[in-house]
Amino acid sequence: MNIIIGVSVPVDREVLRRLRLLRCLGLSWAELGFFRGLNISSSTLSTLREVIHKFGLECSIHCPYFINFCSERLNVRERSLEIVLQCLEICEVLNCELAVVHVGYYGPYGPSRCFEIVRNYFSKIINHVNERGIRAKIAIETMAKDSQFGTLDEVIKLCNEFTNYVVPCIDWAHIYVRYRGNLPFREVLHKIRESLPWLDFLHCHYTSVNDFEDYHVPVGKGPPDFKEVIDALKECNYFKRVIIVCESPLLERDAVKLLKIVRELS
Ligand SMILES: [Zn+2]
Repeated sequence: MNIIIGVSVPVDREVLRRLRLLRCLGLSWAELGFFRGLNISSSTLSTLREVIHKFGLECSIHCPYFINFCSERLNVRERSLEIVLQCLEICEVLNCELAVVHVGYYGPYGPSRCFEIVRNYFSKIINHVNERGIRAKIAIETMAKDSQFGTLDEVIKLCNEFTNYVVPCIDWAHIYVRYRGNLPFREVLHKIRESLPWLDFLHCHYTSVNDFEDYHVPVGKGPPDFKEVIDALKECNYFKRVIIVCESPLLERDAVKLLKIVRELS
């Protein structure tokens, strides 16, 4: 099993400097965060593409936070669709393997009605992906709050609706917070393996958090223990390739720390 440590890289004025730094630090995966929107010119996009290629980086994209496929407002849902489609197009330009999405908040519809709505929108996304010959996958993130779409079961169910197009993004901190530490990481992996036997790689996020609160703190300053994540992955050994994107507030610095832990444990 190949464990790749990546780092979240916000797409802002510092993005090129950060990508350069990544390479110097021996990190090979960047998750480009379009957290606040897709305000990027085509010239910046082509510079990004060049830099990624030059440094031999592998990349994923994190879609904006304001996406909400469960919103009561049709214009919010339609805008979410538009944004995800644009992110997938950017994936193609930048040669990114996948785009990570926070699906939304249940709001008044509740989980089961939301699932139907989300499934409908995802069918539209997949149609577009097929029409345009887009290779990038959509990764659905497991979310921390009870009000958010993104329990482990929901993520797995949605992936199974769109085999090979939609994959899970397992955020270990979010899993820890949402299940109050009561869902062992091995069980998470067993469930994924059992329900998604076609999945041959696993995309993950990791940060330490403040107790059971989704507040990111530096690695080692709070749960969950990164070693537990690695132990579970190694023991189960279900995937040829596991990508773990560091989302700690110290980003690159902590990514190097995670890389060191992975090397020590192998
Ligand atoms: Zn996320």
